[in-house]
Amino acid sequence: MTPTIRLGRLFGIEVGFNWSLIVIFVLVAWTLASSVLPGAAPGQPVLAYWLVGLAGAVVFFVCLLAHEFAHAIAARRRGMKVGGITLWLFGGVSQLEGEPPSPGAEALITGVGPLASLVVAGVAYAVAVAGATAGAPALLIQLAGWLAFLNLALAVFNLVPAFPLDGGRLLGSFFWWRTGSRQRGVRDAVRVGRVVALLMIGLGLVELFVGSIVSGIWIAFIGWFLLSAAGAELAAMEVRTTLRSVPVSAAMSSPVVTVPEWIRVEDFLASAASQHHFTTYPLHALSGELTGVVRLRDLLRASAADRAAMTLRDLARPIAEMPRAHPEESLGVVIERVGSALENRVLVFADGNLVGIVSPSDVARILTLRQALASRHPRAVA
Ligand SMILES: [Zn+2]
Repeated sequence: MTPTIRLGRLFGIEVGFNWSLIVIFVLVAWTLASSVLPGAAPGQPVLAYWLVGLAGAVVFFVCLLAHEFAHAIAARRRGMKVGGITLWLFGGVSQLEGEPPSPGAEALITGVGPLASLVVAGVAYAVAVAGATAGAPALLIQLAGWLAFLNLALAVFNLVPAFPLDGGRLLGSFFWWRTGSRQRGVRDAVRVGRVVALLMIGLGLVELFVGSIVSGIWIAFIGWFLLSAAGAELAAMEVRTTLRSVPVSAAMSSPVVTVPEWIRVEDFLASAASQHHFTTYPLHALSGELTGVVRLRDLLRASAADRAAMTLRDLARPIAEMPRAHPEESLGVVIERVGSALENRVLVFADGNLVGIVSPSDVARILTLRQALASRHPRAVA
């Protein structure tokens, strides 16, 4: 879901959409204009069907956004960071960073999404009924009725108890509350979700042979999607749990080699860079004070002319912009805090001294090591 187009900010939350959404937009507008509306309100001009169809597709996305904003706003109220909202093929996704503070908080953050869809469905239904009694244009009444049905379907579909749907998360928070452990809660909910996914695949196959081919394939496809999502959810959970038990000091590259900021890029690449195996070098000024950080990758990207003319300082990231951590902090907590800034490295300070650097490859290395150890002694980490 990475190639995202930014739409803007609303309530301080970044909203974007994925290219796959354009397919859905066209499909929704086309379905409305060519079959739903002509079937429900016949005898109107083709242009009217298309205008109302396009408006319907836009309102459909507003409804998806209402669902996601309910999640995002509830999460922010419970102290979680919201990375943004992305609309894509299967609806919307709110990027919530970190984990909810309690099972109750998770149930609330999750439950408000389907609830918002239900409320929108109720409002759309009321509009359709009021429109019909007031003698509003037939197309608008039909559009409101269609939106009521769609939002009801959205709420019901999202309550299917399988990850990554809201139903799966609600079940996870219930098991978390029962067992006292979020990890166990997710694991139990994933187990239920797998059964649900397999049942959907089975149902899809039956439908394929005795009923409609299209809906059979569609149900089986969603089942397959939920089955693979269950595995991904579990893997992400294990990674988070593992990283949380590791202190920053175990993952960081240490000791750190700092280099003078006034060295020319060309000279540095010819000498110092080939002596060490580091990918990141902090820079110091004449006074010994740290001023910035260069990544080998950024130096190698510079043109030959720039390498000859520039000093390391010219290509450095200022020290004040670098994310920092303490050696005794949990690696998992640090990663949740810095997010994608890990790509630029995290500097580890103890008593004001730079004692290490954490890069994504350091994290990958410790993760592989710990998971290999855990699989040899499964009981020790359960
Ligand atoms: Zn939801």
